Amino acid sequence: MEVTIHKGSQEIGGTCIQLSSGKTSILLDAGLPLSAASQPVDLSRLSVDALLVSHPHQDHFGLMASLPSGTPVYIGKLARSLIDATRVFLGEERFALDFHEFSAWQPFTIGAFTITPYLVDHSATDAYAFLIEAEGKRLFYSGDLRSHGRKGILFENLVKRPIRDIDLLFLEGTMLHRNNDLFPDETAVENLIFQTIRQQKNISFLLSSSQNIDRIVSAYRACKRSGKLLVIDIYTAWVLEQLRQITQNTPAMDWTEIRVFASHRQDERLKANPEYFGDFRKRLYLHRVKRDELHATPESFLYFGKMSSFHLIDEFKNDDAPVNVIYSQWLGYLDGNHADYFGSDQIAAYRSDPAVNFVYAHTSGHAPVADLQRLAEALKPKMLVPIHSEHGEEFSQHFANVVTYNDGERWSL
Ligand SMILES: [Zn+2]
Ligand SMILES: [Zn+2]
Repeated sequence: MEVTIHKGSQEIGGTCIQLSSGKTSILLDAGLPLSAASQPVDLSRLSVDALLVSHPHQDHFGLMASLPSGTPVYIGKLARSLIDATRVFLGEERFALDFHEFSAWQPFTIGAFTITPYLVDHSATDAYAFLIEAEGKRLFYSGDLRSHGRKGILFENLVKRPIRDIDLLFLEGTMLHRNNDLFPDETAVENLIFQTIRQQKNISFLLSSSQNIDRIVSAYRACKRSGKLLVIDIYTAWVLEQLRQITQNTPAMDWTEIRVFASHRQDERLKANPEYFGDFRKRLYLHRVKRDELHATPESFLYFGKMSSFHLIDEFKNDDAPVNVIYSQWLGYLDGNHADYFGSDQIAAYRSDPAVNFVYAHTSGHAPVADLQRLAEALKPKMLVPIHSEHGEEFSQHFANVVTYNDGERWSL
């Protein structure tokens, strides 16, 4: 088997790995780099038989449309729906690629390769690691994963009942220089949200990603515990609607403690795509909360927003009681170097705004080093290659059998 890391050996994101066996060649992820300094891989000249997408984060699928047309793309069904949802709300065409959907733990073949997707716990939903077999060799690609989310059992299963005879483990190392000590798990996040909103005299905003389903559940549970209502926007309501494909247990707009705030802009997306949304718009309006209702009793609500919510947040600032802004994603986005995140400067300024009580509550989507070590020790790979890390050269201090390769190097397994 021939292996090339096109990107991801020295950075977080942009992951793209090519595997070739006999006449078959496949890609593991086709990610857009997260760093503006990193050049995207030119996929247009790669001739591959298929792309496997591990999960619906841009740094893993963002380049898939630049593959030669007709290249099959294998992806989870829900992951594909979530990517579609984002496109529609951005006013962009949905990807018209040759999609093939796989299911957790159901092996399938692409030419010489047999692939088994392993559902994993991550901040994106419908996220997978892959066991890939060819020529009698066995490779495990971690994708992005962790043990401390609401589906941590999936990680523990990998550790307790490890896959045997792994020749090569591609292990993500996002957290090599980061830790999760402040909020070791999702429950710690939920508890701080609860503490923040329970006695509030004004509205609270929680800023996170609408596709971080664990975080929506934490917000919902904190509201339920404190007798507050959770307000979501139309896009978030649609994301939760997609979850109905796999579970009835995640919050949805028709739940008692949930209201939908319908902005004009998002409502325009619904009106522009009636065949895509079906009767969703009609149902959504049964659960609507209006702006003047928010202003009448702001202390009743937790609004699940994002960086761009600052206009709405500013409406609630007054001299009597601060607005709670619970910042619930990676703090690095506020460092002034992420202009692509509209609103990040305004949100960063809330940290010194007396009208705002700025609270940080977030746990990472990635496993800290101690968990990665547990996984590596269970899988006992003959060779462990760092991926999705800025510190691949330090892996050998933490793991056995580490071999590092640079982007673009072609080697044989
Ligand atoms: Zn990633
Ligand atoms: Zn990810």
